[in-house]
Amino acid sequence: MGDMPYGQCKYCYQIGPLRITYFSFPIKCECCSPYHAERIEHCSKCEARIPTETKVHLSTKKVLDPIHENLFIKLP
Ligand SMILES: [Zn+2]
Ligand SMILES: [Zn+2]
Repeated sequence: MGDMPYGQCKYCYQIGPLRITYFSFPIKCECCSPYHAERIEHCSKCEARIPTETKVHLSTKKVLDPIHENLFIKLP
């Protein structure tokens, strides 16, 4: 399915074919759909680890009224 991504591993900084792992967060953000996910590009030798921080783009409307705007969603 598609081309194998190629580039630098996030962990060991080797250049080569990459594996992509997504970590999902139960937040309905503006940057991802349908929920926030962090994309990790890493080589086949390094296991992806859940990142210690993530950048989320949110609408101020959701931050001001997270309950009614359904800021938090259940992951499938
Ligand atoms: Zn690596
Ligand atoms: Zn997002």
